[in-house]
Amino acid sequence: LVEISHVEKYFGDFHALKDIDLSISRGEVVVIIGPSGSGKSTLCRTINRLETIQSGEIRVDGVPLPAEGQELARLRADVGMVFQSFNLFAHMSILENVTLGPIKVRGMKKAEAEKLAMELLDRVGIAHQAQKFPAQLSGGQQQRVAIARSLAMKPKVMLFDEPTSALDPEMINEVLDVMVQLAKEGMTMVVVTHEMGFARKAANRVVFMADGEIVETGDPESFFTNPQSARAQDFLSKIL
Ligand code: ATP
Ligand code: MG
Repeated sequence: LVEISHVEKYFGDFHALKDIDLSISRGEVVVIIGPSGSGKSTLCRTINRLETIQSGEIRVDGVPLPAEGQELARLRADVGMVFQSFNLFAHMSILENVTLGPIKVRGMKKAEAEKLAMELLDRVGIAHQAQKFPAQLSGGQQQRVAIARSLAMKPKVMLFDEPTSALDPEMINEVLDVMVQLAKEGMTMVVVTHEMGFARKAANRVVFMADGEIVETGDPESFFTNPQSARAQDFLSKIL
């Protein structure tokens, strides 16, 4: 579903992504881990063209990433992204946050978008707060709304960039539970996280990055118990 081949990314002279090859199948859950500055966010951002690449190719559902304009809006709808900071529109109600994309980008009728939004808000446990504004919700609740907002676009793949790292500990699980459920329902997901519990429960594959490279990939159990590369062993010894 997502084909990343020979991708190179520079910020000026700085080589941020080095010959990245990664192929993600429909329904697969890939967890990306690695030290700070290793290029995890940059890789996620290239998949929905928040960052341009200097060479290589990225295809989503067989289609190379578009350059700009209308096609880019469609790509961003097909490739949902949830960030560390929830990025909800502060001046809009929760319901409006979720219906905006389907109405503007997918051309959905308001009533239909609201019905869909309420179903999704119900799924993430926020339906009773649909009329509130983001500031009236906890961080964990806002992040669940951000997930519902992405899902409302009916994305083909969802990217999560450290979705729980800005949350208080007691709110982390309510967000991870939603993500585990999504994984079980067959959503294709790329998740940057250091939550090893999530990786063990939901990931089909762990990708370890360091210095802009994919150093090692493996299934979660063997990666965590028996990492092959010295850099992965060193990293895991610091976080586990
Ligand atoms: P973290 O775990 O801290 O989030 P990361 O693995 O997500 O780290 P990236 O944010 O992808 O790392 O950054 C990779 C490298 O690229 C870093 O060295 C960073 O300083 C650099 N970088 C990222 N964005 C830019 C930018 N817009 N301009 C210049 N350098 C950048
Ligand atoms: Mg990052």
